[in-house]
Amino acid sequence: MKLKLIYSRENLGKPVLSDVISKTNLPINILEAKITLNTGEMLIDVPAVGEKLKEVSNLFQKAGLVVKEITRTIEIDREKCISCGACVSPCPVRAITQDLNWDVDFDEQKCVGCGICVDACPVRAIRML
Ligand code: SF4
Ligand code: SF4
Repeated sequence: MKLKLIYSRENLGKPVLSDVISKTNLPINILEAKITLNTGEMLIDVPAVGEKLKEVSNLFQKAGLVVKEITRTIEIDREKCISCGACVSPCPVRAITQDLNWDVDFDEQKCVGCGICVDACPVRAIRML
């Protein structure tokens, strides 16, 4: 499950993520991080479901972070898409590909929600969710 963690200025400097990893013994993967002086957002991949996922989420919340479960990142409007392929090569994780008919395939599991494909699409067929 992907989780978005939102840091405030108060908890930015704290080793929250490493604490949660050591307490849960889970190999949590950072997919994307945007940090400024005052706030921060991190997209992480947590290899857990059910009670274990709840435990992870609770630990982050107890540390003062806002936690959001991310089930979908982008949506491609198939009616608008002209199969130009402009979104394929900019995707850093190859979450968007084209099949033999030039139709766009999207792999939600790979997507890190960076939004690069949104800007790359000339007909605005992709939007962030
Ligand atoms: S949001 Fe980023 S990772 Fe996801 S499909 Fe678009 S370019 Fe790829
Ligand atoms: S860039 Fe837009 S129009 Fe081109 S293939 Fe991707 S979604 Fe379709």
